[in-house]
Amino acid sequence: MTENVAPKEKAYLNFIEQIVARDLADGKNDGRLQTRFPPEPNGYLHIGHAKAICMDFGVAQKFGGVCNLRFDDTNPQKEDTEYVDSIKEDIEWLGFKWGNIYYASDYFQQLWDFAVRLIKEGKAYVDEQTSEEIAQQKGTPTQAGTESPFRNRPIEESLALFEKMNSGELPEGSMVLRAKIDMANPNMHFRDPIIYRIINKEHHRTGTKWKAYPMYDFAHGQSDYFEGVTHSICTLEFVPHRPLYDYFIDELKEGNDLEDHRPRQYEFNRLNLTYTVMSKRKLLALVKEGLVDGWDDPRMPTVCGLRRRGYSPEAVRKFVDMIGYTKFDALNDYAMLEAAAREDLNARSLRVSAVLNPVKLIVTNYPEGQTEEMEAVNNPENEADGTHTITFSRELWIEREDFMEDAPKKFFRMVPGKEVRLKNAYIVKCTGCKKAADGTIEEIYCEYDPESRSGLEGANRKVKGTLHWVSAAHCLPAEVRLYDRLFNVENPSADERDFRELLNPDSLTVLPNCYVEKYAAEQTATRYLQFQRIGYFTYDKHSTPEKLIFNRTVGLKDSWAKK
Ligand code: ATP
Ligand code: MG
Repeated sequence: MTENVAPKEKAYLNFIEQIVARDLADGKNDGRLQTRFPPEPNGYLHIGHAKAICMDFGVAQKFGGVCNLRFDDTNPQKEDTEYVDSIKEDIEWLGFKWGNIYYASDYFQQLWDFAVRLIKEGKAYVDEQTSEEIAQQKGTPTQAGTESPFRNRPIEESLALFEKMNSGELPEGSMVLRAKIDMANPNMHFRDPIIYRIINKEHHRTGTKWKAYPMYDFAHGQSDYFEGVTHSICTLEFVPHRPLYDYFIDELKEGNDLEDHRPRQYEFNRLNLTYTVMSKRKLLALVKEGLVDGWDDPRMPTVCGLRRRGYSPEAVRKFVDMIGYTKFDALNDYAMLEAAAREDLNARSLRVSAVLNPVKLIVTNYPEGQTEEMEAVNNPENEADGTHTITFSRELWIEREDFMEDAPKKFFRMVPGKEVRLKNAYIVKCTGCKKAADGTIEEIYCEYDPESRSGLEGANRKVKGTLHWVSAAHCLPAEVRLYDRLFNVENPSADERDFRELLNPDSLTVLPNCYVEKYAAEQTATRYLQFQRIGYFTYDKHSTPEKLIFNRTVGLKDSWAKK
């Protein structure tokens, strides 16, 4: 099957690519281009991260640079190697390759030394106030903050206390190290930002060696600098951090003339999607509280969730390409993600037959015990994908919704007295049905026209409807899982109610009694399937040849657009 349908590359450059192109043309950074993707290993990657990945890796790829993977592991409270492993797996699945793998924790000594230097130069001090007190003194954007009573303490005192912060003797929160910058600066990030705090937890890489850990703003830019990053690309919420990013690098470079050789930060808009959340804290809560079936629940916006749901990496990249990169935050429509998936899966999926709500159809004039092999096209979008055979017989399963006893005029499916085509097989005329006492249809009867087999002369007769079917003796039972939006409201993050209350109670429907043609039983060349007339499906990770389980990736049409 077609496993690699590359999305068409855009002819024009996005605004960050334009900056990179200009810098390279100007010979900045000696013509080097180095980016990084800097996840904190405190959760699984989601589709928002995929957008950042496509940017960080994509721009390096496009201009012959290198993108490294750097784990921003400066907070041992929430970090874990499980997350490190999943992040690597997801990046590779998305189709990107990193140059090196780095960890911010590799720089703990260098960062410590730098902090000590700042203390010695009178540019940092240990503050023994509580975090509440410090927050109260921050002021507002229009009102200067208040200086801490510890701001002008002797350098020797701060040095000794900083050592003590790392000794393990002090409780968390008892003191912090702050950069001594400017409590009146209109940029709040300059008002003596906290740069070190005490965390008495074991770190997933450095163990118990450290107790004082650098804050994001004191680790990120410096890590970029140590590694030789040229373009440090991140999301818009870091715009106000940029001056501080530059400040610490200026302090760090110590007289080196780095005007043309320093990392520079550029920002693009975050991805926000309707009917879901991107916050790792909330996603973790859904997992921990058992509200979903793990990080890779097919309803989750995580990369592994999308994978289990049946998205291809190309579909995810196509979506990122569709929404583009701007300097304005927006809420993107989930329907666009689904549209990208449909377009991608239409090109790559294997067409098979499955009946999700089965009712028996008996072809009464077809000899008992007789079978016929029919050709079914694997993918009409790609002839090279070939065909496979399906078996026709006297007893078939069709969809219950495809039959009506008293049908309106425009119902071109199975109706007593009317003709309909069975896909890849014959035209049949419905002759009636058998009902249970409560009115439930138990069996439907029809007669086939032997001259009308698909591909034969007689097949040219016009009938309006074509139905899918599977042969009862030649199909396999399967469980099919239909997924809907995880949340009931368009923007759960903007809602005042607790996000748990906003979950869609009907986001998962399990259909336990479905039938699929044998060819779909996991010996196919692809995991991307189209159940004809229904939608796109894939095998769930728990599916086995003995117990088939399929996840619906997306329906054939946008069923929400009409509502
Ligand atoms: P946290 O709340 O833990 O900080 P985070 O989503 O910011 O979560 P990080 O691991 O810090 O997670 O993110 C790694 C990179 O992915 C960052 O550069 C960040 O800007 C980017 N990123 C995170 N969320 C999105 C998003 N929704 N859209 C685009 N990029 C994102
Ligand atoms: Mg972050």
